[in-house]
Amino acid sequence: MKPATATINGSALRHNLKLIKSLAPNSKICAVVKANAYGQGIRCVTKNIENMVDAFGVARIKEALTIQESGYAGKIVLLEGFFDREELLKTLSRRFDTVIHCIEQLEMLEKVAQEWQKEQEKGFWKRKTKIYFPVSVWLKIDTGMHRLGIHPEDVSEFYQRLSQCPLVSSISFISHFSRADELDCGYSEKQIAVFEEVSKGYSVERSLSASSGILYWQQAHYEWVRPGIIMHGISPHNRPITELGFKPVMTLSSSLITVRTHKAGEPVGYGAAWISPKDTKIGVVAIGYGDGYPRNAPEGTPVFINGRKVPIVGRVSMDMMTVDLGIDSQDKVGDEVILWGKDLLIEEVAETIGVINYELITKLTPRVLIEYK
Ligand code: PLP
Repeated sequence: MKPATATINGSALRHNLKLIKSLAPNSKICAVVKANAYGQGIRCVTKNIENMVDAFGVARIKEALTIQESGYAGKIVLLEGFFDREELLKTLSRRFDTVIHCIEQLEMLEKVAQEWQKEQEKGFWKRKTKIYFPVSVWLKIDTGMHRLGIHPEDVSEFYQRLSQCPLVSSISFISHFSRADELDCGYSEKQIAVFEEVSKGYSVERSLSASSGILYWQQAHYEWVRPGIIMHGISPHNRPITELGFKPVMTLSSSLITVRTHKAGEPVGYGAAWISPKDTKIGVVAIGYGDGYPRNAPEGTPVFINGRKVPIVGRVSMDMMTVDLGIDSQDKVGDEVILWGKDLLIEEVAETIGVINYELITKLTPRVLIEYK
């Protein structure tokens, strides 16, 4: 009998990457593996696909270090850049690519570059046993998300300063869509137009598209695409993408740890939140909010057991949940219960609970076993 387990299908992951390559055939791929590779296990995911991608993208330097220390020697992009001087020094010694999205980051880089140059002039190639290297910088431009990124009017000044900085080996332009899954709202067209306009006259590589951009905005693929969630066969919105040929990579499962005969009118679980309208059998499944399954999953959220969907009833507790198996159930202790996967798409679960797919997968806790097959 298995407790909560996320089974990761490596061949489905590689299949999805091939599909992404066929959707963006002229672009390089920066596979986004932040948040423990969207809950799928950063070490194994990166090992599985490292020879299919051109770079990995992460949000925190710790994630970049994990990938590099597991033996990957290729390009790693810090998508939010460095957070402080210490991280900048690590970025330079580890040769990570970095985003620069604000003036504070540029000034910090320039200051360290000045110090570095002085030391070099003095003949010191080493600085406190560490060697620094010029790195590739991705200048983040705010084309309409209004979260990170410099104003389009400031691009020329930033570009000039970066070009003069001896610790910068190349400059690329990066931006991020805010509504790429809303096909008719006109907003992505505006962001593309701003990106086109600001990059006129610069000979730089560009990147704008994450998953939705790859699926829906072919004119915005540019030299680099940055797929995250679609690598895992999961939709960037709540409409499934299996009909586009993507295969779900993760199956989240657990087991029935007891089956109880239950009388009509009896409540189940904390707060007696659900009272059975009829005689039935209640299955207790070994997964709860301590594993990252949402506590607020409403009555009726489906799970998949022995070829059919059955509803969650009562409150999800820390280590368990209860499901209504029906009076005719033949289900037994030890039977596998699937919370999401190819037989029960995560999009349906997310839609019922009222969350986004991203949230479901990234909230799984370390208690969930991750197994690769
Ligand atoms: N690029 C950036 C800058 C991001 O912040 C993200 C995720 O939030 C991605 C790419 C990948 O997004 P998605 O998972 O929608 O492909």
